[in-house]
Amino acid sequence: MKAYLTQARRVDAEPIFKHSDFLVLTDDWVIMQHFNLLRTGSYLPALCRIAVKIDALAQFNPPLAQQNSWQIGGPADLLIEPKNAQQVAAIVRFARQEQIPLVVIGQGTNLLFDDAGVRGIVMKIGSQMAQITINGEQILAGGGAWVPQLARLSMRAGLTGLEHCIGIPGTVGGLVMMNGGSQHKGIGENIARVRVVTTAGEEEMLTQADCAFAYRQSALQTTGAVVVQAELTCLSGDIATIRRAMVADLRNRRQKFPRKQPNCGSVFLSSAAMHASVGPPGQIIEAAGLKGVRVGNAEVSRQHANFIVNRGGATSADVLTLIKQIRAKVRTEIGFELECEVRYVSPEGQIFPAHKQADLL
Ligand SMILES: Cc1cc2nc3c(=O)[nH]c(=O)nc-3n(C[C@H](O)[C@H](O)[C@H](O)COP(=O)(O)OP(=O)(O)OC[C@H]3O[C@@H](n4cnc5c(N)ncnc54)[C@H](O)[C@@H]3O)c2cc1C
Repeated sequence: MKAYLTQARRVDAEPIFKHSDFLVLTDDWVIMQHFNLLRTGSYLPALCRIAVKIDALAQFNPPLAQQNSWQIGGPADLLIEPKNAQQVAAIVRFARQEQIPLVVIGQGTNLLFDDAGVRGIVMKIGSQMAQITINGEQILAGGGAWVPQLARLSMRAGLTGLEHCIGIPGTVGGLVMMNGGSQHKGIGENIARVRVVTTAGEEEMLTQADCAFAYRQSALQTTGAVVVQAELTCLSGDIATIRRAMVADLRNRRQKFPRKQPNCGSVFLSSAAMHASVGPPGQIIEAAGLKGVRVGNAEVSRQHANFIVNRGGATSADVLTLIKQIRAKVRTEIGFELECEVRYVSPEGQIFPAHKQADLL
């Protein structure tokens, strides 16, 4: 159920519980929602307060399966989509003050949510913060901007440097956080500055050096800062050449990657050193005889072995068990320790590489 917060109305009555599933809350404001009181527990009044104080799109008990490309995950207590950096800062400060877990997401194309969902707030930096402005060789992109759209606009402006991003289905915030990219490149190469909201709820401008970009890593993974805008620099180039490179990248992806079954892209990290010693993860997993191996409804893609596809109704437990099995077999047969690029989100709101959770099974 979606509620635009401006629909909330003020009343002067005491809290009234009409029904076990239906709450009227009268702290400062009133919001009526259909949700499971028992499960939401003690965060509920606070969640209602933040939901109505901030004029952002909010949703109680949303199924997180609708917020990630694997289509897996139970409900969050609250999903909120801020419209600007000020709202992001207010939500961060609020969660900190009330000690409510806060999970930041973009398009959820690199995330595995737990079947139990998230007990706390999930803050989505998405289409509400997706503005892209191009000025000469400088691009300003909102944290929620869609990466293929960023790449397309840079191409139309005759800018080269972002060709490798054309097929990455995430947001600018997620890409910067992951230092994502393809063809052994990372977006960090094009980042001049990043505007963030710190965990203290303060706006800050980071330089490229502050972000400490390394292969699929950035300092943001440890500081927990929220990317609200990125400033990128590109070079002037020939539009036809840039377009050709993008078309070739998309064609290559269509041929190599599974397209019809839900997935999160590459599950395991690759690196130049790994390529040189044992090969890319897909090749290693295939060599270990794991293509098509299935746990529940999660399956190692028959098309590309570094993808795990959801064959319909897969659970996070299915995926984690499969990750554990893949790592064990590759360890034994190839003698290599695979690590996950995909990140697991625990019900307590912690985010870390999924193999760390798989190891606990
Ligand atoms: C079919 C497919 C192909 C893919 N191909 C590639 C590829 O070629 N290269 C590649 O690198 N990746 C690839 N990916 C993975 C994924 O698209 C990227 O990692 C992407 O950058 C993640 O963006 P997102 O918005 O979906 O982030 P999410 O998955 O929502 O989040 C990923 C991480 O970033 C954090 N985060 C998200 N937004 C913000 C923000 N605004 N501020 C701070 N932290 C934030 C989250 O907390 C989480 O830790 C692919 C995925 C799919 C499904």
